[in-house]
Amino acid sequence: MTSLITVKEWLQAADSVIVLAGNEFAQQEGLDLKQMMQLSEVPLAQAWPRWQKLIAARQNYQPSAGMQTLTTLLSGRDYFVATTTFAHLFETAGLASARIFNLNGDWTKLQCTSGMNHGHPETAEVLAKAAAGATSLPKCEVCGQPLEHNLPLDSHFFPDTDANRRFRWFLMGHETKRVVILALGIDASSQQLLATMLPLVQQFPTWQVAVSGTVAIPQAARVVSLSGGLTDNLQALVAR
Ligand SMILES: [Zn+2]
Repeated sequence: MTSLITVKEWLQAADSVIVLAGNEFAQQEGLDLKQMMQLSEVPLAQAWPRWQKLIAARQNYQPSAGMQTLTTLLSGRDYFVATTTFAHLFETAGLASARIFNLNGDWTKLQCTSGMNHGHPETAEVLAKAAAGATSLPKCEVCGQPLEHNLPLDSHFFPDTDANRRFRWFLMGHETKRVVILALGIDASSQQLLATMLPLVQQFPTWQVAVSGTVAIPQAARVVSLSGGLTDNLQALVAR
């Protein structure tokens, strides 16, 4: 409770909020990460229709209470989201895509299997352009190699370099601002998100971080851990 009060005070005084959303956040939004990891073992031609089916099944995604509370918290604020979730969750929940960096890709987009970064065309647009009923894999417009979903399943993965650059600029532009980092749903498999930010919190005295998740965090200045569930914590933070 004490930690929640501290973080609420931080938020009241904050210029900006950085959200780090890890794999427990994805699970809160209903993603079955184990099932998806298993698909990564399947050859592309067989995996493609199965991914498409999974993505189609999620087309009517309704943001959870936790996600809705987060969008309320960010409303009217200067913010950036960096996330290992890859299911277009934050965009669908209404946050600005220019303020989102999907470290582990975005499954509504594609990437080239050539091993070269030939961009990330939107799956829906590529399929709309392809002949109706086409059964073969869509092809890269640059080199003609097959396209696969923009996910970190093999060595062909390229994250969105533009979004990565925007995030870096955001960090650089906020070194002297009052920044609150909300690290949400960080588990062992997504702890790199937090690990890269903790040194910045120690470097910039106006930065603070609140962690909600199962990852162990170091004892350090301006770092607090929130016990309790993700949704409960978010709701407590927006409550007046
Ligand atoms: Zn290509």
